[in-house]
Amino acid sequence: MPELPEVEITARLLDAALRGATITQISAPGLNTLKSFDPPLSALEGARIEGLSRRGKNFIVSTDRDVALVMHLMSAGRLQLYDAPASRRDRTARLLLGLVDGRELRLREFGTKQAAWAKLLTVDALDSDEALAKLGPEAWPDPPVLSEVLDGARPLHAILRDQRVIAGIGRAWVDEILWHARLSPFRRACDLGTDELKALRKAIVETLGGALEHYERALSLPIPDKLPLPLQIHAHQGDPCPRCGRRLEAVHFEDYVIAYCPDCQTQGKLLKDRRLSRLLR
Ligand SMILES: [Zn+2]
Repeated sequence: MPELPEVEITARLLDAALRGATITQISAPGLNTLKSFDPPLSALEGARIEGLSRRGKNFIVSTDRDVALVMHLMSAGRLQLYDAPASRRDRTARLLLGLVDGRELRLREFGTKQAAWAKLLTVDALDSDEALAKLGPEAWPDPPVLSEVLDGARPLHAILRDQRVIAGIGRAWVDEILWHARLSPFRRACDLGTDELKALRKAIVETLGGALEHYERALSLPIPDKLPLPLQIHAHQGDPCPRCGRRLEAVHFEDYVIAYCPDCQTQGKLLKDRRLSRLLR
């Protein structure tokens, strides 16, 4: 989190609010946040914002200058617009954009890790920068033909989160998508039949689209620190399945936890932890 729906709604709201605004000040209080050094941040001073868009889970702020700002929230960031600059030192602040009308756009990050990042790039360098160049086709609104992009070697749960294969899905929404499609997280893409691929595609479009519709109703600026996530499966292990009522289970995979319904997704079988086998190797 945040994933495609959260980044998309943030981009929509901020695009409407920031279009035409002039940047007067920019600073990066997050020590490791800025991942570029040329052009310098000062190249944004006096620039007018022409739009704020999303690519995968990245934000792109385009301007009337030859530079664009790319930002990624990683797992705990927020991009928030306030009517006035922070009055005291905000320990969550990573990047601050002051606007001519006194408003301030803040890239903030919660928790102990500093992983959110920003890059200021020339427009020419934008598409070839590794952050964007390696992204696969967008998961929403029109995902790629799944039989062409999902190779057979990895479990569905891993491949759907691979941004080079399909862009925008992370560890929260993948649980919801696989539950909607009634597919096991450990199924291999090469084993999926035509109907299963169709169900998966439908689940991707409807799950991500449904989340966006929810956010369109539930959110306004500033984006809150705690998002009203409409998740039913992810992190809901122990709760009853919203479809069949069976207890949702959890399985450890690599360094995270997958939630699923055994009756809907794995023919009643409990999945085995894949974390232990790795430690014993
Ligand atoms: Zn179920």
